[in-house]
Amino acid sequence: MWNEVLRLHQQETPECTGLLSWDLASEERRGLGSRMGLRCTKCTYSSMRYNLYEEVDTKSPGRKAAKINYGLQVGLSQTPVGNDGMRKILLCTNTPPPARRSLQKASNKVLPLIQNINEADMSDMCRRLVDVNTLRGNESPHAIPVQCDGMYNNPLYSGVGQTFSIPSSDENETMLHACFSKSVVSSCLGQDNQKQ
Ligand SMILES: [Zn+2]
Repeated sequence: MWNEVLRLHQQETPECTGLLSWDLASEERRGLGSRMGLRCTKCTYSSMRYNLYEEVDTKSPGRKAAKINYGLQVGLSQTPVGNDGMRKILLCTNTPPPARRSLQKASNKVLPLIQNINEADMSDMCRRLVDVNTLRGNESPHAIPVQCDGMYNNPLYSGVGQTFSIPSSDENETMLHACFSKSVVSSCLGQDNQKQ
C-alpha cells in the first residue's frame, strides 16, 4: 500500500517533496476494522482508501466481511459477554464500537458455523468412542466407563434408597470419562436429591 501510494504521488506531482501520512479524516469504520487513505503533508494529494484488515475468503458476491469482526464473534461465543457488553467495554476504552446491527449480522453468520463445528466434533467423538470400545472387545460399544467422586452437604437420611447416590441437599459429582487417551472430566450439580 505505502509503496503504491508513494509511486502514485510521485507520478501525479513529480516536483513535490512532501511526506505522506495517514489521512485520519478519511477513516471509514467496518466494525473493528478500518479503511483509510494517505495524504501528502505539502500538496493536496490524497490517495484512495485501503482496507487495513484482512477479508474473509468467501465465494459469495459483494463486500467481504472483515476477519477481525468474525473473530470478535468467536471470542464472544466463548465468554459470558454479549454484543451489548462488548460495546460498553469498547466505549469505556474510547474505541468506537461496531453498530448493534452489524454485530447482530456477524453473530448470525458466525454462530451457526460454530454450532456446526461443535456438532461435527461431538459426532466424531461418539464414533471414535464406538471404534475404541469395539477394538477393546466391549460387549456394548456405546458404554462409557467413568470414575466418579462426589461431595455432599447435609445428608438426608430419609431419602435413603430413593437415589443412586447419597441423598443430600447439595451434591457435586465429578466424573472422569476414561474412554480416550485424553480423559474427559465432567461435573454435575444436584440439589434436593430427596425429590429425585
Ligand atoms: Zn505532495
